[in-house]
Amino acid sequence: MLITLPHGLIDGLDLFDIVEIDELRGKQQNYLADKELVVNNIGHIPKILEDLVISFQTKEGLKWKGKVSDAIWKITSSDIETILIKLRENTYGPEFYHEAQCPECNKKLKNLRLDLDTLKIDKLSLENIISSKIVILPKSKLEVEFKAMYLKDMFEALKIVTKNNSKLVTSSIALGIKRLGNKTSITSEDIEQIPARDLMFLNEEHEKIKVDGSIDNNIELSCNNPNCKKEFSIKLNCLDPNFFVPSRG
Ligand SMILES: [Zn+2]
Repeated sequence: MLITLPHGLIDGLDLFDIVEIDELRGKQQNYLADKELVVNNIGHIPKILEDLVISFQTKEGLKWKGKVSDAIWKITSSDIETILIKLRENTYGPEFYHEAQCPECNKKLKNLRLDLDTLKIDKLSLENIISSKIVILPKSKLEVEFKAMYLKDMFEALKIVTKNNSKLVTSSIALGIKRLGNKTSITSEDIEQIPARDLMFLNEEHEKIKVDGSIDNNIELSCNNPNCKKEFSIKLNCLDPNFFVPSRG
């Protein structure tokens, strides 16, 4: 199956944003059953991507010459999510059944059907990909360069949520920054030093400057309890190993 990524892999002047993927086989079922890889972790993801991404190509069909095992660490989180969703689609078909709980009356809604082939991809243009992602903080006058999230950051983000709750805010902000002044490899401690006024500006600018494309993983639902009918939305979690459970198709 050939898919178009929302961001793509940049190498020199070429944009490799078409990916050829295989389907899940027995070997990958072992990863999904491996507790060390999946419990409070997303260790199955690089393994699945490494096995099942066949090639990265340009629109003209030029194939990326490097190793797929390297490429998966150079693509953004929207590309990773897109590949995972399309891997499920290519393996079991587009129909995906899931459950949700109404936030109003707590009713469990079962057998909700989502057609994975209808999820819209918002593609980041090449112009946007190569444009400057730099802003200057108004108070400290420091230059900040934003970046997209990569696979390494996705592992970090999971660690932040599961273990390091006291630094949730500053750690999360650090993941989106490539450079602060002259410093790269930004940590939570660097963000802790930023004046609050600068931080507010930084958050506002980060929303405006597009660093990545997306695949629309918002699922709009309405409660089927006739006394409730609450409308709400949930996010499709394709990073969860349960996303690949065959019976959900
Ligand atoms: Zn309800």
